[in-house]
Amino acid sequence: MAKEQQRAESLEGRPVADAIKREVAEEVSRLRQQGVVPRLAAVLVGEDAASAVYVRNKVRACAEVGIDSEKIDLPTNTTSEELAAVVRRLNANDNVDGILVQLPLPKQIDDSVIIEVIDPAKDVDAFHPTNVGYLAMGHPRFVPCTPAGIIELLDRNRIEIQGANACVVGRSQIVGRPIASLLLQRHATVTICHSKTRDLPEVTRQSDILIAAIGRPAFIRGEFIKPGATVIDVGVNQVTNPEDARKYFGAEADLRIEAIEKRGYTLVGDVHPAEADLIAGRRTPVPGGVGLLTVAMLMKNTLQAAKWRRGN
Ligand code: NAP
Repeated sequence: MAKEQQRAESLEGRPVADAIKREVAEEVSRLRQQGVVPRLAAVLVGEDAASAVYVRNKVRACAEVGIDSEKIDLPTNTTSEELAAVVRRLNANDNVDGILVQLPLPKQIDDSVIIEVIDPAKDVDAFHPTNVGYLAMGHPRFVPCTPAGIIELLDRNRIEIQGANACVVGRSQIVGRPIASLLLQRHATVTICHSKTRDLPEVTRQSDILIAAIGRPAFIRGEFIKPGATVIDVGVNQVTNPEDARKYFGAEADLRIEAIEKRGYTLVGDVHPAEADLIAGRRTPVPGGVGLLTVAMLMKNTLQAAKWRRGN
């Protein structure tokens, strides 16, 4: 009898995200009984469709966990000064605990200038240099939501970080650098790779925990993965060509091609799912993996902001 094909276990984001949101909701409800209502202000500049969906999901998650929210829509031609003025008003508003400015901003506005205007005590995305600095020093205050979610996913699935060889492909401010800092803080041996890394597969193949945050569809092939490794796929890429879907998705290909026919695209991460599933021990799916945790961690950060601002 042929040996059954080994398949990586799917590390689902939903149960972990739901558990985090439940815990946040319980704590928010206790705070409300004490007269404290955590509040998030989300600022959306322009008409970018993906950004609008992200902000809508965040506002919806606030309602789910009992956090008050306000959404501030600004036109595409908003100037840097106008946006900075809005952020300063939110900084000064004592009822607002968390401020989120959805990135990317229209091209006339420099993201980093606006990030620096946000009060670090309300910086629930954790992109302000003060919060980045605390994390780099190994004393994190706010932690960026996607990397924080990855740590929750590993912990709650009892995947040991201490002593593991961890490799992060990508060195962005939003994912690569902060997740590397967090893994280091948790005593992993961390390698950070990027576009200039030599012989990438040789490096990534050493890792027990491989994190891909690159932004290239199905880039991490089977040969990049150590047998049995835990593979965390942060990438979110659109696939519009049915032939690509056929190559990436193995047994799931027909379903994905159907999705392309229906709405024009399906999503793939930075990891080649069909190849990874033959080699990895565990893999986060796309969609349904890391993305769900990002929003849950934003709720947790907003609750944390509300508590810290009141000295708890
Ligand atoms: P980014 O700012 O574009 O950074 C990409 C990184 O990948 C860079 O450090 C780049 O190296 C590296 N890279 C590019 N090509 C490479 C190659 N051929 N070999 C090795 N490294 C390479 O991306 P990001 O903001 O971190 O996002 C990465 C992906 O995650 C995107 O698909 C994004 O949509 C997704 N994302 C998902 C979530 C979520 O909640 N699920 C959140 C954030 C981001 P250099 O530095 O050398 O250029």
